[in-house]
Amino acid sequence: MNRIATNARQSTLDGDLRRRVTGTVHTPGSAAYEALRRPLRADLDPRPSVVVEAANVADIRSSLLAARQHGVPLAVQATGHGTHVAADDAVLLKTTGMTSVLVDPARRIARVGPGTRWSEVLTAAAPFGLAPLSGSSPTVGVTGYTLGGGVGWLARRFGFASDSVVRAQVLTADGRLLTTGPDQYPDLFWALRGGGGGFGIVTSLEFQLYPVDQVTAGFLYVPLSGETIACYETWASTLPDELSTALVVRRMPATDDVPAALRDRSVIMLKVLHSGDPAQTRCLLAPMLAAAGPVLHDELRVLPYAQAAMGGTAARHLDFFPALPSAAIDELLAVHHATGSTVEIRHWGGAMADPGPDAGPAGHREAPFSVILDTPQPDTAARLAAYGIGGTFLNFLADTGRTATAFSAENLRRLRDVKRFYDPENFFRLGHTVTAPADHPLRRAA
Ligand SMILES: Cc1cc2nc3c(=O)[nH]c(=O)nc-3n(C[C@H](O)[C@H](O)[C@H](O)COP(=O)(O)OP(=O)(O)OC[C@H]3O[C@@H](n4cnc5c(N)ncnc54)[C@H](O)[C@@H]3O)c2cc1C
Repeated sequence: MNRIATNARQSTLDGDLRRRVTGTVHTPGSAAYEALRRPLRADLDPRPSVVVEAANVADIRSSLLAARQHGVPLAVQATGHGTHVAADDAVLLKTTGMTSVLVDPARRIARVGPGTRWSEVLTAAAPFGLAPLSGSSPTVGVTGYTLGGGVGWLARRFGFASDSVVRAQVLTADGRLLTTGPDQYPDLFWALRGGGGGFGIVTSLEFQLYPVDQVTAGFLYVPLSGETIACYETWASTLPDELSTALVVRRMPATDDVPAALRDRSVIMLKVLHSGDPAQTRCLLAPMLAAAGPVLHDELRVLPYAQAAMGGTAARHLDFFPALPSAAIDELLAVHHATGSTVEIRHWGGAMADPGPDAGPAGHREAPFSVILDTPQPDTAARLAAYGIGGTFLNFLADTGRTATAFSAENLRRLRDVKRFYDPENFFRLGHTVTAPADHPLRRAA
């Protein structure tokens, strides 16, 4: 398209949006446009046609209709933490200002607006002794996190965040505002619980809260050895669902703020969050620590759940491992020593593996361990392929070309049916989305 045509389309689009929305519309050249267009990922440099800061649900609907009318795509962004596609030439719809949290302590339910971050839910729920199924960072958006499954440190006990959703209001590609739940548009409701943001724009989310107040959480550092990792595989399978753990092989920096016993060496960091009786935590850890050798540094303590910052490992390579055979451990250690990559082995299972009937499509629920590397090399995937299932978790996947690998074959087939029914033109395509091949037989979605 030539520049005159582009400019004409631009002025019509932003003129239309300015007339229709009560929020704010920003166009290229303004300081606000520059500040708002970028997501967290520094390698993305999107140039949307227009940025809309939505003030209410009507603004979201107006933005969707305007984008459709003008034939441009639309991208939804709350915090930009999970944005992996540049919203070039699109309407970039920011829900960031639409924050709200309503807690019903009697029903143990929270309802949030689409811009809400976990920190706001944690703060609102804590006075009632309640907690949401948040993840490692309170700055992450509730809606994006939950649509992508949402695995937090209470997940072994209560399941994925997506399992806790009881109702979602969603604007579909054709502009209908639907309230979905187990008995209302059940197929769409099912897809939203882990299938990602490709099915509609969620305008409010209702989910369960859980009676968790104090937890025992933190890190224990032990010497690095392959035997300790082998022991972790056996020990983890004996743990109650109240205890979530991960084992992280990492090279500690040589800086003064690092305890001397850890400085400038590779260690194992055992991450622990126990929501059961604090008096039991160290008994449960004892077999592992007896095998792991002297504890080099101990940061485990009792604290409010809302303050348990568990940190994360950037998931540049993730696969699920059915087991941790010695050959796999040797390979992981070799990769760590050769590249300095942090290796995180996380124990899943518990309620994630036993979610009850008609659970959403999130994750590879049967897999007991995930393995994450933050600095993979070109040959890393090939070296580890023999030990993994070749699957991933949507929230930890940056490559939108691999979205299908986040689901089981049966869930993928069902997601494609829902997609064809609710968004046959793939309007919601700027993010993780499943598309149905043209010859995919259409089954009825409700
Ligand atoms: C520091 C950090 C820690 C993390 N920790 C965890 C963790 O412990 N567990 C875990 O499971 N994940 C974790 N994640 C991943 C995170 O859950 C995803 O990146 C998630 O997509 C972020 O959602 P957001 O709304 O904050 O991001 P955004 O970039 O604003 O949105 C990401 C995507 O979510 C979808 N989306 C957002 N809002 C809507 C909406 N209203 N309607 C429809 N679709 C929508 C869109 O597809 C959008 O592209 C972490 C990410 C970071 C950066």
